[in-house]
Amino acid sequence: MSALLESYAGGTWFRATDEGKPLLDAATGEEVARISSTGLDLSAMVEHARNVGGPALRALTFHERAGLLKAVAKQLGTDKDELYALSARTGATLRDSQVDIDGGIGTVFSYASKGTRELPNDTIVLDGATEQLSRSGSFVGQHVYTSRPGVAVQINAFNFPVWGMLEKLAPAFLAGLPSIVKPASQTAYLTELVFRRIIESGLLPEGSVQLLCGSPDGLLDQLGAQDSVAFTGSASTGATLRQHPSVLYGGVQLGVEADSLNCSILGPDVTSEDPELDLFVKGVVTEMTVKAGQKCTAIRRTIVPATIADDVVRAISARLAKISVGNPVNPDVRMGALASLAQRDEVRKAVQSLRGSAEIVFGDPDHVDVVDGDAEVGAFMSPILLRASAGAREPHDVEAFGPVSTVLTYDSLDEAIALAARGQGSLVGSLVTHDPSVARTVTLGLAPWHGRLLVLDRDDADESTGHGSPLPVLVHGGPGRAGGGEELGGIRGVLHHMQRTAIQASPDMLTAITGQWTKGSQQHVDDVHPFRKSLAELRIGDTIRSDPRTVTLADIEHFAEFTGDTFYAHTDAEAAAANPLFGGIVAHGYLVVSLAAGLFVDPDPGPVLANFGVDNLRFLTPVKADDTIAVTLTVKQITPRNTADYGEVRWDAVVTNSEDAPVATYDVLTLVAKTLA
Ligand code: NAP
Repeated sequence: MSALLESYAGGTWFRATDEGKPLLDAATGEEVARISSTGLDLSAMVEHARNVGGPALRALTFHERAGLLKAVAKQLGTDKDELYALSARTGATLRDSQVDIDGGIGTVFSYASKGTRELPNDTIVLDGATEQLSRSGSFVGQHVYTSRPGVAVQINAFNFPVWGMLEKLAPAFLAGLPSIVKPASQTAYLTELVFRRIIESGLLPEGSVQLLCGSPDGLLDQLGAQDSVAFTGSASTGATLRQHPSVLYGGVQLGVEADSLNCSILGPDVTSEDPELDLFVKGVVTEMTVKAGQKCTAIRRTIVPATIADDVVRAISARLAKISVGNPVNPDVRMGALASLAQRDEVRKAVQSLRGSAEIVFGDPDHVDVVDGDAEVGAFMSPILLRASAGAREPHDVEAFGPVSTVLTYDSLDEAIALAARGQGSLVGSLVTHDPSVARTVTLGLAPWHGRLLVLDRDDADESTGHGSPLPVLVHGGPGRAGGGEELGGIRGVLHHMQRTAIQASPDMLTAITGQWTKGSQQHVDDVHPFRKSLAELRIGDTIRSDPRTVTLADIEHFAEFTGDTFYAHTDAEAAAANPLFGGIVAHGYLVVSLAAGLFVDPDPGPVLANFGVDNLRFLTPVKADDTIAVTLTVKQITPRNTADYGEVRWDAVVTNSEDAPVATYDVLTLVAKTLA
């Protein structure tokens, strides 16, 4: 008997008290492992996450969490051969395994990097600008995101045992939420191996990640209003979860990523001679055959102009004929097996339903020539292309979760858009066209029904990541039938896990709460110029108020001549006088900002290492010749870098004129040494 998969719960590996259910190799039918969660204390797992994992995670800043994710991704990158070998037993070819394993590790790297670059080295995130709520400015509002003291339960589908786990885990971890991962039983042996390697690395705080192999029955009963469930799987399981009392009445947040009848549309502009036709055909065949079509993003509906449909069907069929099906470990095999014989039965049943309104134009669902394998014991299946009759209903309703796609035809763009919409909401759609007006019309028609859209043509094809690849930086999820959920999308995927709260307070209180200087709160001026202070010495609110300086006409003329910016408002008195906004010669905005730098800078070598930009620059009041300006510079945010001996300081800069009216506002961004040399 093969090994029983273990769960990782409460800081130890748990073995079920029974023999468990066998899990079979998709290609050979041999037993790979057994699975059961009998005897596992789910309530204790949830408590461990809440009481041990959550507090440990929330004690770390976003940057510290991001650093741990990066270390985990690096560690997993060293173990890939054993992962590929086990992945083959799910029916995956090497290319399929790379999508799952390398894609999953890449997603963790991406979150590690985004967490460091786009989140503060803190435990609170500000959302948008401060809102002034009173006339004098003593009462202001600020939206913030904070971590929930709950647990994130992640229920995954069988088709991506590695990526599926990691793409959910990484954003939740960054958000400060401990995770309980529940892999789909069918391929849980691969998830368990990756999880084991993560635990063995010892990198992650205890309780921040736990693994549940086997039935999750009763798990949702343990959850409450600060907890969430992220589910990926079939629409029917999604519907069951939506009706769970903890979701209906207990405030548990449920995200659903369900099945999706994704489409790819060939634009009406494309002729048989255009490179776009080949791109379209390649895309359809790739999506039908990668992971044997067991991808939530695969192209199920191939929508083409009626005038070119015969050519398209011929071209797709010719390519499909070259796909060798068989044992995924054989390097000559292009498409491996479905995950199980039961899964193949499901796909055959779905093809039978599709045949209600479509005819098979390529492949036989009951027969395939198998390379290096036996079609009786392995879950092998031929790719199947169908062509729908006019008005067909089934292609818009039935998901065949395998190497299956149906060609539908249209006569007008409106009809193409209407056909796409009949899928009732999809994860992804693609449009292959080289006509910008087709691109705009179809995109505006399709976008409300989709989470992601790919517009493909000869210009982006070489570097395109393709129709079916969710990317960590882009949103994954779709409306309606696709579940209505949203994952990934860069930092959006982290913020989904956090609570947004509007805080109303005085500026001083907001500064204390957020750790960032709020306009109107205290400013500290002392004898030491802030540019002489190291990161360790600087305090939020440290301020320098410069001496005034008069901007002369000679300054403006000199700047115009020196830079070549001789725009008439700075050089031609008569023309400038006619300008409705200026009414005469004004200083260049960049001259004002440059002079301001000259007013606040402390020139000698010191802890300030570099100025790396300005944010939010606005010119508010024109500066005329002989106006006097001064600048106030205040430390707004201090972000030490965990991996360097310096950090970032964001300074609030306000340039005012002699009437104390602001003429320019912006944030100055500098790098400052942590300690004095
Ligand atoms: P599934 O049968 O719905 O199972 C999905 C997950 O839910 C598995 O981990 C399963 O565990 C678990 N589960 C089943 N019943 C449950 C219950 N009552 N309570 C809690 N968890 C339960 O789906 P599947 O067959 O694995 O996956 C194929 C489907 O997923 C396809 O329809 C595909 O389109 C969809 N999918 C969607 C996406 C997306 O991102 N939108 C991605 C991949 C797949 P067990 O395995 O232990 O039963």
